[in-house]
Amino acid sequence: SDAGHGKIEDNPKILSGPVLTNSPNAVLSKTLLGRYNDLPLPGDKVLATYVWIDGTGEHLRCKDRTLSFIPKQPKDKLTRILENMYTKYELSVIGNLKWSYMDEYSSPYYFPRDGPDTSILCEQKLNRDSFDENFKDLPVWNFDGSSTGQADGHNSDTYLVPRALYRDPFRRGNHLLVMCDTYKYNMEPTESNHRVKCQEAYEKCKDDEPWFGIEQEYILLDSDLRPFGWPPGGFPPPQGPYYCGVGANKVFARDLVEAHYKCCLYAGVPISGTNAEVMPSQWEFQVGPSVGVTAGDDLWMARYILHRLAEEYGVIVTFDPKPVQDWNGSGAHTNFSTKKMREENGIIEIEKAIDKLSKVHMKHIKVYDPRGGKDNERRLTGLHETASINDFSAGVANRASSIRIPRAVAEEKKGYLEDRRPASNCDPYAVVDALMRTCILNE
Ligand code: ADP
Ligand code: MN
Ligand code: MN
Ligand code: MN
Ligand code: MN
Repeated sequence: SDAGHGKIEDNPKILSGPVLTNSPNAVLSKTLLGRYNDLPLPGDKVLATYVWIDGTGEHLRCKDRTLSFIPKQPKDKLTRILENMYTKYELSVIGNLKWSYMDEYSSPYYFPRDGPDTSILCEQKLNRDSFDENFKDLPVWNFDGSSTGQADGHNSDTYLVPRALYRDPFRRGNHLLVMCDTYKYNMEPTESNHRVKCQEAYEKCKDDEPWFGIEQEYILLDSDLRPFGWPPGGFPPPQGPYYCGVGANKVFARDLVEAHYKCCLYAGVPISGTNAEVMPSQWEFQVGPSVGVTAGDDLWMARYILHRLAEEYGVIVTFDPKPVQDWNGSGAHTNFSTKKMREENGIIEIEKAIDKLSKVHMKHIKVYDPRGGKDNERRLTGLHETASINDFSAGVANRASSIRIPRAVAEEKKGYLEDRRPASNCDPYAVVDALMRTCILNE
């Protein structure tokens, strides 16, 4: 049923980019930087990479700055957040995973992966002087929004507000990756800043402890913008052997996937697993469960790390939900639970949530990709393990429905639901926001 005879040429997105024969990055020396990487920096300088979502709502930008201090997180706060994040997680019904890297976080500094207590940040949003104590060291910054589709040229300064800190796996040491959100000259959130609303929703339903585990699928492209490793001008043998495959004719660029896995865990992005996907050169990683708005921070940072690594390999990552017709597309299945869903007989809560979701299907579809549903039109066809974009459906272990209740959840009568509709290029802030508002806040 999944015979691959698709046409890449039919997808305008694949055609629209520049066509290179070889990525310049792929041929640069991978070892030369090693000669300078361990140069001691005067005065314990810390390099911070500020990362943000640009005006497309889909792509990321970054720039670096030098700090002359190590942003610290008070130990008591660190401990409290860790308890919140991980202890409960270990007790979770389905997620009885243990984070083996927890100990690393007991070191004298290290910020929790979800950043500061978001409530404080929210209240003091853009008041620079009373900025969260833990972030006062990390300045609000700005960039030229006219170059990123976020401002006009004549009034271009756009603000970057640090929201979540991660360790920098590229530079290591005390260096940081900083997930930011963006504000216009007048301190209004930019159009693609969906984090503000998401955070507001999370503040209102914190006590329900909403958890999100997002399965990020993506496809690797060669510099000619065809899927990586596909034969020139043609197609590989049909889908079937590639999903969770092993072997040189089944999976491509595992090195990159492996590096990404390690880099994320090092950074503090809680990757819970990874697997090769149905289409050759398609992969998946899962992030979470993460709590509330943090799920968005974590997924965006995982995407950044992936792009940044792929840059070194000279390979391109696309989160486009359907790069090749008639082959599996990419989604961002969002697994969602509340405290009540995870408790005994939580299945009742899960069913209530599904009922609420069934009434606002199109409202969700509109925010489940960056083009108001247009991208998902290409993906949610009813074929290739998807449900039609026009219909809402739910079922146990059913991968052709909008919402799936995993078999184990149905058996244990508690756990979580899986929303299969979000596209791979969705903004997780918008998805998480919609789920909290529909299922918990009854908006
Ligand atoms: P699938 O069977 O759909 O491929 P995966 O194993 O890829 O599922 O992903 C399941 C995701 O659900 C993981 O990210 C995991 O962390 C997450 N998850 C597990 N338990 C919960 C829970 N109680 N609430 C929210 N997410 C959860
Ligand atoms: Mn400049
Ligand atoms: Mn999965
Ligand atoms: Mn998958
Ligand atoms: Mn899934």
